Amino acid sequence: MILATPGPVEIPLFVRETFLKETIHHRTPEFKEILVDTLNRFKNLTHLPEAVFLTSSGTGAMEAAVINLAGKKALTINAGKFGERWGKICKAYGIEFKELKYDWDTPADVAEVVAEAKDVDSLFIQISESAGGLRHPVEEIAKEVKLVNPECIIVADGITALGVEDIDTSNIDCIIGGSQKAFMLPPGLAMLGLSEAAIKRMGNGKGFYFNLANEVKKQREGTTAFTPATSLIIALNEVIKKLESIGLTKHYENTANRHKAMIASLEAIGLSIFPQIPALSMAAVYFEKAEEIRKILKTKYEVNVAGGQDFMKGKLFRINNMGIIEDYKMEHILNSIELALDELGIRKYDGSAVKVYSNERLK
Ligand SMILES: *Cc1c(COP(=O)(O)O)cnc(C)c1O
Repeated sequence: MILATPGPVEIPLFVRETFLKETIHHRTPEFKEILVDTLNRFKNLTHLPEAVFLTSSGTGAMEAAVINLAGKKALTINAGKFGERWGKICKAYGIEFKELKYDWDTPADVAEVVAEAKDVDSLFIQISESAGGLRHPVEEIAKEVKLVNPECIIVADGITALGVEDIDTSNIDCIIGGSQKAFMLPPGLAMLGLSEAAIKRMGNGKGFYFNLANEVKKQREGTTAFTPATSLIIALNEVIKKLESIGLTKHYENTANRHKAMIASLEAIGLSIFPQIPALSMAAVYFEKAEEIRKILKTKYEVNVAGGQDFMKGKLFRINNMGIIEDYKMEHILNSIELALDELGIRKYDGSAVKVYSNERLK
């Protein structure tokens, strides 16, 4: 079965092999060396001066960012399930916030966000909102918000963006990554890149397990406050080294090029892409028979794609583009979609999906 969901993604063999090694204790010089090296490589990837890893899924890092960085009043951007989550976390902690809401296919409007951000001291947004496969103009928003409100801390959920594309973090104070998305690991590790301003804002930190100040202090010393997900950090080290050996720029270019080819292929067989500005992490297809096609793909062609969430259930299917995906796999996925369209009586199969994809990939 091909796991073609936009998180969790398939775990390559070189990653799985790291789990066969002996367990090492986390309070040892051997682990310290790996942790420090992985934190440094992660900083290089985010272009931010500080990094911390948390043993949690991505949402844990979102929660940690909210409680430690929100200040007195937050602005949250909600264009999907994950944007909605910022508000839920604020509510759970009694943190004052206002929410700017957009349709799931609509990117946040820069001017609107800037206007709303004048009287807050933090802004929370997704780079890639996975619910609709949408890309927000986060770099531009961050830049403009800092011009009118330099004290505003900008938190960007990059869980389906880090490792997918090179993010300009010059105006971002906190960027969040998650292990099971573009980093091709099992779930359970969340990573945060932090600016000097974010470190200043958190002071002594808040919360207990998710006290970021405490974690930053420990991880600067090459250790962690609690038992870390050692196996995932060791594997993350191998993943980042692999991406570096390919060349980060080359990996990003390949991801962007594959995305372009996927979109062209899907459109060639009459499908429509849901978001106005698609994120590179996936292809989100608006399709009224989403559950039918997903069932055919899974049972007949061994392809597992994600559906829509919430009110988009049954109207959306989402194909992953994160990580290292071989062309032969993507070709099988696209060909299966074309075959399934024939089976559903929507369009006669003629091999266009693979033809268009491979032509684009050769460009
Ligand atoms: C997957 C995801 C998360 C975090 O989800 P977890 O299930 O907690 O790992 C957060 N934001 C986005 C955009 C995501 O895609």
